[in-house]
Amino acid sequence: EKRWSLRGNTALITGGSKGIGVLHQTKDHGYAVVEELVMLGATVHTCCRNESELNKCLQEWKDMNYPVTGSVCDVSSRVEREKLMEDVSSIFQGKLNILVNNAGTFYFKPVVECTSEDYMLLMSTNFESAFHLSQLAHPLLKASGKGNIVHISSIAGIKGVKNASIYGASKGAMNQLTKNLACEWAKDGIRTNCIAPGAIRTPLIQHLLTKEFEAQVSMGIPLERIGEPNEVASLAAFLCMPAASYITGQVICADGGQTISG
Ligand code: NDP
Repeated sequence: EKRWSLRGNTALITGGSKGIGVLHQTKDHGYAVVEELVMLGATVHTCCRNESELNKCLQEWKDMNYPVTGSVCDVSSRVEREKLMEDVSSIFQGKLNILVNNAGTFYFKPVVECTSEDYMLLMSTNFESAFHLSQLAHPLLKASGKGNIVHISSIAGIKGVKNASIYGASKGAMNQLTKNLACEWAKDGIRTNCIAPGAIRTPLIQHLLTKEFEAQVSMGIPLERIGEPNEVASLAAFLCMPAASYITGQVICADGGQTISG
């Protein structure tokens, strides 16, 4: 077993068709989570809602001989989550080393305008999915002998980002869940950690990234720039490696220093 490798590992990464999950469109930026884990030796299964986008990704990975499979799944649906884990269990013969809860959604809305639909959509997509998929993955992670869960939360779950209350609560809940799972499942050989990214250049926030907005946001970031998906992917990979064997229950910001400044 190599300290800095994921060779032989199986992984489920939700939301692997774009953004932090994968950024094959801009290869020069390196690799996002799916491709980073593949490069380090893992075999990956991913999911998203849009079938044609998924198939396009799967074809590209096939062309590059990457060991990646995928299924269409809306992680906000309990039934679809159960089906996803059944598929994963049959593909990986009941054993899973890595679960990355990455799929999530976001939009700005003031508290007074939030509806019950907003609440249900954000909480089920971001938090309930991570909770339930972790539950469903538990026997598979345990069976693998060495399991790792990585949640992708947000700095909005740490600080009070304006007009992001439900999103922030859903991510704050992921941050806390990280600690509970780390305590409960250590005995099963499972580590659980969480990455809280700051602003990352992905389709999710593409519409916000005007020159002016970027310049304004960058002023509050010690590294003075927005992050790239591969700068989250590298941390996700590290947290799953034997090299990180004494790290569990941690929420680590990948935010250019945004939360520790000012
Ligand atoms: P993108 O919107 O760029 O990509 C999201 C991915 O998740 C896509 O593959 C999308 O595919 C999938 N997805 C979205 N909703 C669902 C769903 N209900 N079921 C299954 N798959 C879904 O987002 P990012 O890459 O930016 O975000 C990834 C994670 O990082 C999210 O949890 C987000 O909250 C978090 N994050 C992002 C930040 C940023 O600045 N970009 C900052 C902090 C945290 P499809 O639409 O086909 O389902």
